[in-house]
Amino acid sequence: MISLAMREQVKSSSIIRAMFEEGKRLAAIHGTENVYDFSLGNPSVEPPNEVKEAIFEIINEENSMAVHGYMNNSGFEDVREAIADSLNRRFATQFSSENILMTVGAAGGLNVIIKTLLNPGDEVITFAPFFGEYRNYVQNHQGQLLVVSPNTKDFQPNLEEFKEKINPKTKAVLINSPNNPTGVVYSEETIIRLADILREKQHEYGSEIYLIADEPYRELAYDQVEVPYLTKYYENTIVGYSFSKSLSLPGERVGYLVIPTQAADFNNLISGANIANRILGFVNAPSLFQRVIAKCLNAQVNIESYNQNRELLYNGLVSFGYECIKPEGAFYLFIKTPLENDVEFCNLAKQKNILIVPGSAFSCPGYARIAYCVPYATIERALPGFKSLISDMKGQK
Ligand code: PLP
Repeated sequence: MISLAMREQVKSSSIIRAMFEEGKRLAAIHGTENVYDFSLGNPSVEPPNEVKEAIFEIINEENSMAVHGYMNNSGFEDVREAIADSLNRRFATQFSSENILMTVGAAGGLNVIIKTLLNPGDEVITFAPFFGEYRNYVQNHQGQLLVVSPNTKDFQPNLEEFKEKINPKTKAVLINSPNNPTGVVYSEETIIRLADILREKQHEYGSEIYLIADEPYRELAYDQVEVPYLTKYYENTIVGYSFSKSLSLPGERVGYLVIPTQAADFNNLISGANIANRILGFVNAPSLFQRVIAKCLNAQVNIESYNQNRELLYNGLVSFGYECIKPEGAFYLFIKTPLENDVEFCNLAKQKNILIVPGSAFSCPGYARIAYCVPYATIERALPGFKSLISDMKGQK
């Protein structure tokens, strides 16, 4: 008796989640240590100590009615101010608490801003490969997602095709860097060109086009790579941030949106987002964890642990003959599948108890995503399987 739309959703329910379930099934048969589950972006590094300390401090010392009560739908004023100050220190921006809206993770924040912006039929453009949930987030608010095809040379956005896809119905552009699934960081040169194109098109159509920067992986960047802060490059930028990966707190559901004062229609945007947070049913971001993250804005997870995984996996795979770009951020590696059919390849990998996600799930067939947020030993044990997988294929050619 459920709705037709939800019936479709049930049928095509996330392939990544399905792999996760498959991992648990295989582990029950073969033993956890013999199943190499690279399917889900669930952090493998512990939250920093500051998180635990902050929880105890708040519970023991703060007024429990205030800690656990309702608040302004945008979140606690002092928490928003602490975030604005932290951003200003790090990126030389000029935000205040009124530019920050606390959200239920990045997913909540994206839904809030998309609901705030879209009229039915409005278009959102994104670049393949992309996090598959974007499709749902845009559909939730009667929008149309337009996908720019992947630039498999270096996985920077394909800006030529982007320019052609923008039209008077384009309301927003949704980008994600460091990127899930490629681990690529969009360069400053890319951002400058993208911003120039957007300004040119706004002028041509007399419209406003918002750039939504989905940044849950901002802090996971390696080798001192620069991740440009986008509000500095384009006025109509809205940043969606999350502590799911940066503090390893995905289950706590806490993040924020940055809506800069210079964004067109700022007052309505911020009021609309505040109301969207309420009427989507989030009401406000979880109260205890808003207070916790305010005390942990300088804390970091042990990124070196992900970096060691990245080096081991990348060097191993390349030595076996896999083609891939060395990721500069996040905890994903995107390989070209030695078989053209990525789904078939991932099924063969499963026979070796290796769980990886076909690139098709990210609108980039012919590739597969390996989430290396796993124990180092899992990668060590999985490498022989990756090696025999590609050797089997070479043997067949
Ligand atoms: N955006 C991207 C690119 C992601 O990879 C994820 C989660 O994996 C999210 C958004 C959702 O993050 P959150 O847990 O903060 O809602």
